[in-house]
Amino acid sequence: MIGSSVVVRTRSWIVLCLGLLTVGTPAAFAGDCPGHPDALGTSRTLVVDPREHPRIGTMQYRETLPLKDHEVVLTFDDGPLPKYSNQILKMLDDECIKATFFIIGGQAKANPEGVRKLVAAGHTVGTHSMNHPLTFDRMPIEKAEAEINGGIEWTSAAMTDPSRQLAPFFRIPGLMRADGVENYLISRGIQVWSADFPADDWRHVSSDRVYQLAIQRLEAKGKGILLLHDIQARTVAALPKIIRDLKARGYRIVHVVPATAELPATPTTPVEWLLHPPTETVPIARWPAVPNFVFTQTRTLPAPSLADLNAQAGHQPLLPRKTMAQANVAATLPVPGRDLFAIPEGSIEVLLSTTLSRRAATRMAMAAETPRAARGKAGKLHGSRSAHAAHGAPKHAAQAGSTAPKTTSPKTASPKSAAAHPTRVASLKKRAQ
Ligand SMILES: [Zn+2]
Repeated sequence: MIGSSVVVRTRSWIVLCLGLLTVGTPAAFAGDCPGHPDALGTSRTLVVDPREHPRIGTMQYRETLPLKDHEVVLTFDDGPLPKYSNQILKMLDDECIKATFFIIGGQAKANPEGVRKLVAAGHTVGTHSMNHPLTFDRMPIEKAEAEINGGIEWTSAAMTDPSRQLAPFFRIPGLMRADGVENYLISRGIQVWSADFPADDWRHVSSDRVYQLAIQRLEAKGKGILLLHDIQARTVAALPKIIRDLKARGYRIVHVVPATAELPATPTTPVEWLLHPPTETVPIARWPAVPNFVFTQTRTLPAPSLADLNAQAGHQPLLPRKTMAQANVAATLPVPGRDLFAIPEGSIEVLLSTTLSRRAATRMAMAAETPRAARGKAGKLHGSRSAHAAHGAPKHAAQAGSTAPKTTSPKTASPKSAAAHPTRVASLKKRAQ
């Protein structure tokens, strides 16, 4: 036990000394982790200038960190909380991983030693407001400014040299962004950090689920900023598996630090700040507007019904509305009786002219002039058609209704059309010749 504590203490000093020596060119390398040959390590340090890229994280913004494929930035919010933060710190230390922590002022006030440990271990430390209100999107700007400044004040108070140790990085609690809040932060040269994907570790889910979500969402994007919390037991339980899987899948950790007068930003091109830059074959006319972030709960949201869509009278409905006729026809029309389909005497020719070929219609019309023959043939047709119509009555209720004698449709056997039939028969005869 004594021997091991000496080793741990010695390594802590080595880490601390390395941290001090590498302030100008901070870097740790995978495979260069004393005592942990299989460590994931930190592959490179990315120096960013908040003024050049004031908002990052594709969960909300157009730009994100200029990472290469399979590069990951780990971020932890809401600490420090000794019970869990110290375990997270130890795991990262054992793997020689450098991460970014977003500190709550209230936590720093209660546990300043926790902030000093992060600084000593060489992690990047930004802030996350004083009290973590989830109302940044609607609170008065004066209150938002007080929240931002309180967090910075108490996190700085825990540091020996905040001008060098506190990064001008801020993550809005709950990612509840607002233009005024962002503008205030940017005016102070503070970079607004969203993320590229969370692992839902603030929810009541298992640590296995946190691990699965972290890997699945990373795999979906191929690189990016992972949002975690160092105050959750499930995150403590999930982190070793996440780290092992990152290593197995060939991911590399990137440590992000702010540019200073002595430390210029890593040279990048604008297109590298887009997660999936446009290519020549995929033209992008414009980027979609970024909505306010809402935690993804799509699984619990019911699909909107047609009625919901149509309820918004001020907007064009997405689906066609039912017309009054469509809406009422089934409800108001009775099932037609059999006699409804009886065709009045004299209208048979008009009917035939629309359903038979011209030649056949003419033949039938001419035959109709001979009462006996007409009665026989028309009677047959009449019976056959009535049976068919009766059979299909429910399905064709609306159509059948239009043939009812009481309707006034000009195409049906109304008194008007019946009166007109001699003219039509005559013209049919003429054309048939
Ligand atoms: Zn938070």
